[in-house]
Amino acid sequence: MQITKTLTTAPKAKPEGALGFGKIFTDHMFIMDYSTEKGWHDARIVPYGDISLSPASMVFHYGQEMFEGMKAYRAKDGRILLFRPEKNIERMNNTNRRMCIPEVNTEDVLQAIEELVLVDSDWIPTQEGTSLYIRPFIIATDPFLGVHPSHTYKFMIILSPVGAYYASGLAPVKICVEDEYVRAVKGGTGFAKVGGNYAASLKGQEKAEKMGYAQVLWLDGIEHRYIDEVGAMNVFFVIGDKIVTPKLEGNILPGVTRDSVINYLKAKGYNVEERRISIDEVYEAGQKGELKEMFGTGTAAVISPVGLLDWNGKKLIINNNEIGEISQMLYDEITGIQFGNKKDEFGWSYEIKR
Ligand SMILES: *Cc1c(COP(=O)(O)O)cnc(C)c1O
Repeated sequence: MQITKTLTTAPKAKPEGALGFGKIFTDHMFIMDYSTEKGWHDARIVPYGDISLSPASMVFHYGQEMFEGMKAYRAKDGRILLFRPEKNIERMNNTNRRMCIPEVNTEDVLQAIEELVLVDSDWIPTQEGTSLYIRPFIIATDPFLGVHPSHTYKFMIILSPVGAYYASGLAPVKICVEDEYVRAVKGGTGFAKVGGNYAASLKGQEKAEKMGYAQVLWLDGIEHRYIDEVGAMNVFFVIGDKIVTPKLEGNILPGVTRDSVINYLKAKGYNVEERRISIDEVYEAGQKGELKEMFGTGTAAVISPVGLLDWNGKKLIINNNEIGEISQMLYDEITGIQFGNKKDEFGWSYEIKR
């Protein structure tokens, strides 16, 4: 694919101090348009800036859009690494199919990511645990108020330098079990990475925050009993000598970190079960002393240990509200591969070469 480049004449100052998450954007962005006649076309890297759209653009009214989230890591030896980018691009097309958005070409998307990251490679932070967050997304742009898939789209990629998720080591979070609002239902869009799922989750998240909790533990949308996800992360439980995670049945986002954790654990001989797990089972295991660890997985935090659950006032403390052995090991191993500090025995690391 031919990508035309227009470089900025007014580069911004690089941030100093704590980066946080998703507040700072680099000097450039990638854009490509879609029309029924031309397909995906006019791939370009341009200075980062506002875009102009008709207020009637379909994305604003019916939410036909999708997004992805991944990171570029700066290794100590200077290499720029991605982590299993083909998994994100494959998921992108799974989301596109569900959202009636035209599919994208895998090699073209990878090329766009690589060229954009190289143009803004000075923006990849180098401090321990920091990285460059990559946000590809597609929006429906037909100026039309009818409910129908759009005929035109914009595919964009923006980049944001992000800080280490944990300022001082892995810290367990407190989680509220949500049994009123739901995030997604089977047959809906739970397995797709779309803004609508997040819009639907805000109310539960707001309720949890008001009660002093970091995130919500989402239960299934039908029986309000089986565990789906924690916040915007997949979830794992260490129960006795087994590691249990909810099975992908259409309502759960198939996380790249989730898949990596499962594969890593299986390769090391752990007993991993992908199956339905109810909130009652978790509390029972907790009361019997069999629930050793609970953690969330996702690109942003990698591993997020859970120290306490609150289910309608019934509190369950997990592992003494401390980081578990398996959580810590997974964090060290996976970030080790991502940052190029550990042997990449699974072939997960992908180097961006000039
Ligand atoms: C992105 C996301 C995840 C995590 O996926 P990763 O590929 O591991 O980053 C989990 N749940 C939801 C709802 C998500 O949107």
